[in-house]
Amino acid sequence: MPNRRALLGALAAGLILAHAPMAATAQEKLPVVASFSILGDFVKEVGGDRIALTTLVGPNGDAHVYSPTPADAKAMAGAKLIVINGLKFEGWMTRLIKSSGAKATVATATTGITPLEADDDHDHDKKGHGHDHGGVDPHAWQNVANARIYVANIRDALVKADPAGQANYEANATRYLAQLDAVEAEVKAAIARIPADRRKAITSHDAFGYFVKAYGIEFIAPQGVSTEAEASAKDVGRIIRQIKAEKIPAVFLENVTNPRLVERIAKESGARIGGRIFSDALSDAAGPAGTYIAMMKHNISQIEKALAAGPA
Ligand code: ZN
Repeated sequence: MPNRRALLGALAAGLILAHAPMAATAQEKLPVVASFSILGDFVKEVGGDRIALTTLVGPNGDAHVYSPTPADAKAMAGAKLIVINGLKFEGWMTRLIKSSGAKATVATATTGITPLEADDDHDHDKKGHGHDHGGVDPHAWQNVANARIYVANIRDALVKADPAGQANYEANATRYLAQLDAVEAEVKAAIARIPADRRKAITSHDAFGYFVKAYGIEFIAPQGVSTEAEASAKDVGRIIRQIKAEKIPAVFLENVTNPRLVERIAKESGARIGGRIFSDALSDAAGPAGTYIAMMKHNISQIEKALAAGPA
């Protein structure tokens, strides 16, 4: 009997010892999951060293059509906070939250943003890109003013999940919001340098509605044309006629869509390929758009270069 008591005492002491260092230094990071790369970048900026972040859809990944992995479900189950875009961007997230048994708080980063209606005629559902917007355009991050709302929502969610980190999260958010102000000023200045009658271009996938509305440029995405290469000859013909009639200077490739359709349109219309712009995902760290700010800078420099120049 005394032996057993001694053993229990030793065990208890051991347990206390094992836990002591963690409790004393409070080094345990807050486990956070973000659904896709752009959102993950915002969360990283605000969360800094206090969080352990898992981003589910990585660089150049298409979050519209993602298939979650068992590792994703595990990350969800262990998370204290899950951050999603909302606006029906990542419908698979709702299913994953349920199936993973996640107990985390779910923060919707677009809360408070005025959603744009999706163009009814643009329909990516047919094949490949698999948009399911339900009448709402989910690509709200393409307006920097909205990015500020994302960041404020993420800051508030982190403070709620980890009140001890409040001062950190607020300082990080304030620093990052100033960087967003600077990049927004850069975008506006670049658009102003493009002659007004040349502020139009073709993109393959209709992901720039918020950008277009905020900054006064016209992007035309092939209406009713799937992002797969097999667009109908009639649709392609109509776009080519439109490019010629409206003297649209450039067409842009995107990182998440197949380049063949846009390349074909450029070839047949004589419009210049204005480079590759990033719509729904960042590049990897070595690429030109490894962060949201790098993405916005890269996109606007490609757009200005292609549109401010003389006719192709
Ligand atoms: Zn998209």
